[in-house]
Amino acid sequence: MRILLVEDDPMIGEAVTIALKDAAYAVDWVRDGTTAGSALEHGEHQAVLLDLGLPKRDGLEVLRRLRETGNKIPVIVITARDEVEDRIKGLDLGADDYLVKPFDVDELLARLRAVVRRQGGQAVPVLTNGKVSLDPATREARYGDIVALLSAREFALLHALLLRPGAILTRSKLEERIYGWNEEVESNAVDFLIHGVRKKLGASLIKNVRGAGWMVEKMQ
Ligand code: CA
Repeated sequence: MRILLVEDDPMIGEAVTIALKDAAYAVDWVRDGTTAGSALEHGEHQAVLLDLGLPKRDGLEVLRRLRETGNKIPVIVITARDEVEDRIKGLDLGADDYLVKPFDVDELLARLRAVVRRQGGQAVPVLTNGKVSLDPATREARYGDIVALLSAREFALLHALLLRPGAILTRSKLEERIYGWNEEVESNAVDFLIHGVRKKLGASLIKNVRGAGWMVEKMQ
């Protein structure tokens, strides 16, 4: 899962980036509103953390333009304690949630999981598909009787597949979900991760669709 972080404060930006990476997200960090706007046009991200006070274009304007184009990506607005009015404006403009600085990183992660889950139409915190389940809070995966803890990137891979069971994801789509802009991706990185997940959960869960990509079948 790939997150766009829009934050001009270097200390907060750095701390949030580290926390997100630790929690298995790929993160792209931009520091002003216009760069955020163009980054969002590419549709590579699954959620946005958006500071409001930004150089070049403020966060509310970024949000307004985003929603105007019909983009429904989950957005969590980050505000200072005294910006109550902006927070309300943000929610009115289509933000999904907000956080008040200084915030606790665990709270940020929980809110992020919640907005992404709502986006995927999942009412419960654990992603399930038949006998497969994946808990974003612990990175624990279950497949039938097998229970395994996944690495950050194995989790990101299986999460991407489980969000849309039955859909084939190409190598580049998977790489896009797992890695950020500044990360070097080895050509066999996806194969390596799939091998890792299969080793932990069995070979049958992730299907290889020859020449197209990979999928997890939709199960009852
Ligand atoms: Ca700011």
